[in-house]
Amino acid sequence: MAAYMLTQAGADVILLEAGEPWDNAKDSAMLTWPYESPRRGKSTKERPFGEFDACIGGWEIPGEPYARAPGTEFSWWRARMVGGRTNHWGRISLRLGPYDFRRKALDGLGDDWPISYNDVAPYYDRVDRLVGIFGSKENLPNEPDGVFLPPPKPRCHELLVKQAADKLHVTCIPARLSILTRPLNGRAACHYCGQCNRGCTVNANFTSTNVLIAPGLATGKLTLVTSAMAREVTVDKTGRATGVAYVDKTTGTDWRVRAKVVVLAASALESARLLLNSKSSRFPNGLANSSGTVGRYITDTTGTDVAGFIPKMMDHVPHNHDGVGGMHLYMPWWLDNTKLDFPRGYHIEVWGGTRMPSYGFVGGIHRYPSGGGYGKQLKDDYRRYYGATIGFSGRGEMIPNDDSYCELDPRTVDQWGIPVLRFHWKWSDHEYRQVKHMQETFRALIAEMGGEVFSPLPTAEQGYGIAAGGTIIHELGGTRMGDDPKTSVLNRWCQAHDCRSLFVVDGGPFVSQADKNPTWTILALSMRTSEYIADQTRKGAL
Ligand SMILES: Cc1cc2nc3c(=O)[nH]c(=O)nc-3n(C[C@H](O)[C@H](O)[C@H](O)COP(=O)(O)OP(=O)(O)OC[C@H]3O[C@@H](n4cnc5c(N)ncnc54)[C@H](O)[C@@H]3O)c2cc1C
Ligand code: SF4
Repeated sequence: MAAYMLTQAGADVILLEAGEPWDNAKDSAMLTWPYESPRRGKSTKERPFGEFDACIGGWEIPGEPYARAPGTEFSWWRARMVGGRTNHWGRISLRLGPYDFRRKALDGLGDDWPISYNDVAPYYDRVDRLVGIFGSKENLPNEPDGVFLPPPKPRCHELLVKQAADKLHVTCIPARLSILTRPLNGRAACHYCGQCNRGCTVNANFTSTNVLIAPGLATGKLTLVTSAMAREVTVDKTGRATGVAYVDKTTGTDWRVRAKVVVLAASALESARLLLNSKSSRFPNGLANSSGTVGRYITDTTGTDVAGFIPKMMDHVPHNHDGVGGMHLYMPWWLDNTKLDFPRGYHIEVWGGTRMPSYGFVGGIHRYPSGGGYGKQLKDDYRRYYGATIGFSGRGEMIPNDDSYCELDPRTVDQWGIPVLRFHWKWSDHEYRQVKHMQETFRALIAEMGGEVFSPLPTAEQGYGIAAGGTIIHELGGTRMGDDPKTSVLNRWCQAHDCRSLFVVDGGPFVSQADKNPTWTILALSMRTSEYIADQTRKGAL
């Protein structure tokens, strides 16, 4: 977004990208059948979400390790390609609500943002119009409506979910995804092949690559350098950021680019790493770190899943289940935390029904009533149970805590000699109790549909099934914004308190997580910061 906005404003921009080029319009496996591959779509090391998935990267990248403090369970997903994780992401595009910016004022926990919803709202609107999003106007107090394209209709399994949710008084509304249901800005509308995670050859869903970087390149003002692993931000004697030192991964040689302004957008934790590695006599603890808070206040969304077998969906009559590669309905947070034993909410994502069968589909068929077997019986059972599963994923707000942070590991470096991050992670009772509530709610929804869950509710010792830190892939914080330079890294414009020519525009500036998937806010804040950079440059203030 920063490269797009700044080139539109007339700036010369050089974009350093550690990964390789990949173009969803040309390289996607959108129309590949699983049987065209001997792996049938099974995951590979480079593509943990399946062989046809668009994202190059993973939990472990050869030559790029990270460390965990003893007792820490944390996994770090990293993309290494032009466009980063936006090649694969679920496109669930939720705005933070007015309450999300001032949670401390409301319940005394965590911290408030230095900005409010009203500061970001105009940018959310512009991102909606530029990138495209479907949804419905609902007038809910903390789930702001956007500039929506019409949402797709619910499919059969989603209608069942809606009925159950209505019975249990759980708010259930059309999903909000950055997928075009109408043509927009020269891009085609979705044709409902349901393969969004593979990359869309017609650009009907959002990727940075083709919606932002391509128009940036078309201005002639953007230079894209791939396989360029940033090592550190360079500074001059006055403490001003002067550019970036990077490694050309194809040759292993070191290079420097000089710039008037440096904008970090390497993903929240990688930007913290870059700052911690940018040590100089003036900044011995890393750049922009006079507060000691670089790498602190990091969070991930809380998560747990439950899936159930729904007998009334088996032996179904084949009919049109076409849709986008994501949910058509979701459940925003619907309860009042003051009446519950945990302080922050979660939303519910819905999955299941008849998706493209691939490697491992209807796994565990022996657990279905008289399911499994061999030969014809097994094939018949696959047909019978295909599409008869519905699942729910909770995505909740974690409150930043002092025990969850990252720092440089004193012993480990990556293959280019760059020190790596070491993670510390701890959930508090707030998160455990919230996840228990998710489990109970999902089981109640499945029971309401007449379904059966094959696994028991995880115990307290099992953390009620909470997913390990990092595994929901919504890491935020590490360079949080604030008005006080003693407790924050960036000011309200995502500009470093300690270094005027340095900005961070990924998830790093987030003060709190909210129960919203973060990317729409990352885009809106990045747009806002980029406009500020352009404005300040024109005024000669940078
Ligand atoms: C499976 C999955 C599903 C998701 N679903 C959703 C969703 O539905 N909704 C949502 O809001 N979010 C979702 N996310 C999260 C979303 O993808 C991220 O929030 C978003 O992509 C973050 O953007 P970013 O630019 O900060 O980081 P990234 O997209 O990770 O991009 C960072 C880029 O910087 C490059 N880079 C990193 N380090 C360096 C370095 N040292 N030098 C040079 N380049 C570097 C990387 O190669 C990468 O291209 C999902 C993520 C995944 C993986
Ligand atoms: S479902 Fe729509 S947006 Fe997704 S890949 Fe298919 S055509 Fe593209």
